[in-house]
Amino acid sequence: MARDPRYDPLFEPLQIGPVTAPNRFYQVPHCSGMGFQRPRMLAAMRGIKAEGGWGVVCTEYCSIAPSSDEGHYPCASLYDADDVRNLRAMTDAVHAQGSLAGVELWYGGHTSANLDTREVALDVASLPNTATHGMPAQSQAMSRDDIRAFRAMYRAGAERALEAGFDIVYVYANHYYLLHNFLNPYFNRRDDEYGGSRENRVRLLRELIEDVGEVIAGRAALAVRYSIASDFETDPELLECFRLVAELPDLWDITVDDYDLEMGSSRFVREAANQAAVAKIKSLTSKPVVSVGRFTSPDTMLAQITGGVQDFIGAARPSIADPFLPRKIDEGRLEDIRECIGCNICYAHNSLGVPIRCTQNPTMGEEWRRGWHPEKIQKRHADQGVLVVGGGPAGLEAARALGQRGYTVILAEAERELGGRLNRETRLSGLSEWARVRDWRLGQLRRMPNVAIFPQNRLDADAVLELDAEHVIVATGASWRRDGVGRHSNEAFAGHDSDAVIGVEDVLDGRLPDGRVVIYDDDHYYLANAIALQLSTAGCAVTLVTPADRLAAWSGFPDEHSGIMRSLYAAGVEIQTAQALVGFDSGVARFAHVHGGPDASLDADYLLPVTAREPDDTLWRALNARADDLAAAGILSLQRIGDCRAPGIVAQAVYAGHRAARELGSATPRARRDRVVL
Ligand code: ADP
Ligand code: SF4
Repeated sequence: MARDPRYDPLFEPLQIGPVTAPNRFYQVPHCSGMGFQRPRMLAAMRGIKAEGGWGVVCTEYCSIAPSSDEGHYPCASLYDADDVRNLRAMTDAVHAQGSLAGVELWYGGHTSANLDTREVALDVASLPNTATHGMPAQSQAMSRDDIRAFRAMYRAGAERALEAGFDIVYVYANHYYLLHNFLNPYFNRRDDEYGGSRENRVRLLRELIEDVGEVIAGRAALAVRYSIASDFETDPELLECFRLVAELPDLWDITVDDYDLEMGSSRFVREAANQAAVAKIKSLTSKPVVSVGRFTSPDTMLAQITGGVQDFIGAARPSIADPFLPRKIDEGRLEDIRECIGCNICYAHNSLGVPIRCTQNPTMGEEWRRGWHPEKIQKRHADQGVLVVGGGPAGLEAARALGQRGYTVILAEAERELGGRLNRETRLSGLSEWARVRDWRLGQLRRMPNVAIFPQNRLDADAVLELDAEHVIVATGASWRRDGVGRHSNEAFAGHDSDAVIGVEDVLDGRLPDGRVVIYDDDHYYLANAIALQLSTAGCAVTLVTPADRLAAWSGFPDEHSGIMRSLYAAGVEIQTAQALVGFDSGVARFAHVHGGPDASLDADYLLPVTAREPDDTLWRALNARADDLAAAGILSLQRIGDCRAPGIVAQAVYAGHRAARELGSATPRARRDRVVL
């Protein structure tokens, strides 16, 4: 199919200084959890983005010196010739597709704990370290000599960036890293020519733009990443600083000064949330502007360009969820776009110091390691049929990828609607975009003539044996426990069988309690707090109790924690931490303080434990015990995948489904490891 001409403006080339981007799709710098540690994975992943039509593909933040080290976060680096060679693999992969490669030269300052290199971090002042896994330590306040040395470091970084083949070189001036701190009068209290007036606070940024400009002169474009306050009318400081340098670089990459907004999950932030700030910047410069906004709708993208809000569609997450998004618009295949759901699981994995993965795109991070391409898959190994039992995220993805491979697929689901856990959880406020995991797969499946879908078919072992399939994949999910067994306790609490103990599924199916409800969260992610908000809105007096020191601790990795806490406090939900559930009787929930502090006792009409799940693997166990019957029925393989094998997050279930489909008929495939070999 051909592109709808309405979208032509998205495909117009645009000059950025001395280079020209082939279209308006711009993958802004985004962390990958690969960085300097996994150069082959990085090169393959970025190359696939270029293949998918992103006209500009940037690397993640790229450290220019060992005194800017993110420890367990694997950033990119350009310290020496080895780094140059490694990043050359990325620029080659991007150039091979006709796209431009960008590099974000980065110096952290007080945000860098330098746990790996043990160097002292430099910054505008001696500021306490703010890294997540930080140190009770401070940066060194930069002297004039330090500033001179720092400028030389940046120049050297720019030289190496050119050697590595980059077409766009960034000066990185936001996200509370060193340059941001020089600009910001809150941190910058210097009394020399780098502090005080705006002109002085902007001085270092101006000097770096000039320095890098001199180095790259005519051979690459110079971009600056910069942020202003989202409420720039009331907080105009960074906007005023911007006016002083508005015409200096070749391109502005703009964000807002609030990471929770810039990078917010879909629970709290919608598409194009930063538009007002970006449009303001655009009105103050003649240079091209790019910004992100978790754009997944082609019409919203188009409106950004034609409405003069920005010149490029910046994307990190939408390009992770669908590396081929631009190509699909170009080819008129809008229904094939796999939209990001805004879960921030990608970001969570970088925070955990490992390669990013994606809930929607199971091939993310596996491009080199397993040789998975997001659009291509090997043909079926034989003319055989596969029965997939269970239509949750695991079963849907398995059936979809098997269908793509050309197998004859039967997908059986017990419920009327396919989607599994997604059907229940997406009813919760803020989680509706997660339904895209189900809807994209259903859309693809319904167009596959070789896939037959049978809803309202709860299969038992006999029914499976009667069906005509050589392979059986069981994806029957998991159910939430009510007995309190979880991470903190392997024993049921006293009184768990009371009628006043309610289950997660009860609430998600609409059987809402009333009165005083205590929710016990030993899951530490989104579900307990999302239910708390739901019940509170429905009029319950809700108390959330956790045995952890911090409520919803895991939600810090996908950067949702502060949004969650803000909404809980706003809704009036009571919170108790470090309390382990002991028992529930006569309307009283009893807890023991995990560190020997005062135990809690709470009056409650209902108690809802959100602790752990029980795999629903009855069908798999029944089939697995009947090897002879399987053989007699001509069934060659049986496997269980997703939550019925090991309950996990939705991304793990989708991945399990994809992997089962990829590996059907393959001889023990093995993942490669990207590492330095002596
Ligand atoms: P996962 O995350 O592993 O995909 P889910 O719990 O989301 O797991 O989905 C499992 C799906 O399997 C649910 O939709 C459930 O109704 C379905 N299911 C469970 N048992 C059977 C069965 N015996 N036959 C058909 N479908 C089943
Ligand atoms: Fe989007 Fe979630 Fe994938 Fe990240 S992990 S790109 S937020 S769908």
